[in-house]
Amino acid sequence: MSKKKTSKFGAFVLCALALVLGFFGGFSVFTYISLPKTEELVISSDVYYSKNDKIKEANSDLDLQDAEISVHFLELGNKYTGDCTYIKTKTCDILIDCGSKSDSIPTVANYLNNYVTDGKLEYVIVTHAHQDHYAGFATPKNIKSIFDLYNCETVITFAQTKQNSTKGLYANFLREIEETKTKNNTKVFTAEECIEENNGAKKEYNIGENSTLKILNSKFYTQKSTTENNHSVCTLIESSGKNFLFTGDLEKDGEEALVNLNSLPEIDLYKAGHHGSKTSSSMTLLNVTKPKVVCVCCCAGSPEYTKTKDNQFPTQEFIDNVSKFTDKIYVTTLCIDYDANKFESFNGNIVYISNQNSYNIKCSNNNTILKDSEWFKNNRTWQTA
Ligand SMILES: [Zn+2]
Repeated sequence: MSKKKTSKFGAFVLCALALVLGFFGGFSVFTYISLPKTEELVISSDVYYSKNDKIKEANSDLDLQDAEISVHFLELGNKYTGDCTYIKTKTCDILIDCGSKSDSIPTVANYLNNYVTDGKLEYVIVTHAHQDHYAGFATPKNIKSIFDLYNCETVITFAQTKQNSTKGLYANFLREIEETKTKNNTKVFTAEECIEENNGAKKEYNIGENSTLKILNSKFYTQKSTTENNHSVCTLIESSGKNFLFTGDLEKDGEEALVNLNSLPEIDLYKAGHHGSKTSSSMTLLNVTKPKVVCVCCCAGSPEYTKTKDNQFPTQEFIDNVSKFTDKIYVTTLCIDYDANKFESFNGNIVYISNQNSYNIKCSNNNTILKDSEWFKNNRTWQTA
């Protein structure tokens, strides 16, 4: 190569280099100026939280021990549908229901014993007289119930039931209640007594520095319903501006009355009514409560109650309703083969850990939201607006 050619080639390389540098340099300056700052770049539903109520999903793991309140939806160790929710604050241990069958008691107790250090449950709520909610309190004499295993200070129960009080689970329940009243001085109130504030019962209980447990008014504490589900005790927990709603198995007409009788806030965490049944989580309730996170206690896709796939928990209709407000839906258990007694964890035990302006969800199996799960893809559809 001649000297002249070399300098021509050198100039060409320099020009090309300048062009490349200029292009990328210009592009980065353009990017820097035109894109919003980091926190506005979050495209997930976190934006929804920060826009609406300053509550953000925590980036780092919140420590359960330091949490202001944590809500735990438990797996029950069998293939059956059932509810059992444990709530921990700095000063109280609370249990809402204990299904699904009496053989779930060891599974529940094993879990509770990680957190309940003084053997005491300050508040126990028994929503209604169905096995999948109260089997753990209604054991035969030879099986230890939750009342036998823990010192339950205050128990709030359904105000009425259609069950026969002389036999079966309900007779067991009445016996267990009488025993704990005598042995542990347990205060037992019906939801109706709480609403009326009769006999020492209260509508609202302080469960921590910034936390209250409120018994909501429901039409069917006093009126008869054709379904036991509507007799469910309904509870609202408020903690540092966050709201948690538990309606047991309350159905549509009960939900409509609930909306009319109480001034319900928007809800941060909603335990799906009636295990995600199509009989509950009506638009009447959801339009007011606009839940942000929904947890379903069920064995997904189980034919326990129906062979119609769309109506197996969590039902398509439930998903159609809830999906208008959130995609953060979590489910405890998954049915693999009902007849062969095969089931596994879906999310597993679901724990919502909450501090003042943040929350975190930690599940024992995985944190996959329902609509991203394999089961959902094969069995349900997601309606996008
Ligand atoms: Zn139920």
